Amino acid sequence: MKINEIFYSIQGEGKWTGLPNVFIRTTGCNLRCLYCDTKYAYEKGIEKTIEETISEAGKYNCKKICVTGGEPLIQKETLKLIDKLIKKNYKISLETNGSIDITPLTNKAKLIISLDIKCPSSKMHEKMIFENIKKLKQKDQLKLIIKNKNDYEYAKEIINKYKPACTTFFQPVWGTNSKLLADWIIKDGLNVKLGLQIHKIIWGNKRRI
Ligand code: SF4
Repeated sequence: MKINEIFYSIQGEGKWTGLPNVFIRTTGCNLRCLYCDTKYAYEKGIEKTIEETISEAGKYNCKKICVTGGEPLIQKETLKLIDKLIKKNYKISLETNGSIDITPLTNKAKLIISLDIKCPSSKMHEKMIFENIKKLKQKDQLKLIIKNKNDYEYAKEIINKYKPACTTFFQPVWGTNSKLLADWIIKDGLNVKLGLQIHKIIWGNKRRI
C-alpha cells in the first residue's frame, strides 16, 4: 500500500484529543475539499507492505494508532492493515471522509470509526453518503467541519435528521472564528462537542515531520 507518512505526536482531534498517538497517513484522496490541509498526501508516498507499515509504526512506545489520509479507504489494503493491527492489540481510530461506504468497518468492535461529514463550504458535501451516519455506534465519532453560519445550519440539520449514536464534534475550519461557533452552539443548546485542533494550537498549521 502507498503510505505518505508515519509519525508519533499528540492527537489533536476527536475523543482521543491530547493523547499520544502514532499516525499512519495513507496516500491519495478521492475528494478535493476547498480548505484541505493535507494536499501533500494526494500523491506523495512510498509503497510499503502491510508488515513494513506495522513494523515502522511499532517503533514507537505507543499502543494507539490513528489511520488517516488522504482517504484511507480508497486503498483496499487498509482493511487488512486494520485487522492486523487489532490482532496485535493496538487501539485504532480510522479517519474517513464520508464519501465511502463504511459497512466493511462496522463489525470491528475494537475500531473507532471517525467519520467526517463535509459541509457546503468544502464544495464536497454532495459526495457524502449520509447512510454512513446511521451505521456509527456509540464507540465511534462524527465530525462536521464548519466554516460559516451556513455550514453550521447545515450541520444542525444533518444531526437532527440522522441522530448519530456517537459523540458529534463541530470543528471550525482552521483560521475561522471558533468563538462564533461556540456562541452558536451555546445559544442553540446543541448536544455536540466543540472540537479544536489542538495540534495546530500547539505547533501551528504545518507538518510535524
Ligand atoms: S477529505 Fe481530507 S484529505 Fe481529502 S481533500 Fe478533504 S480535507 Fe483533504
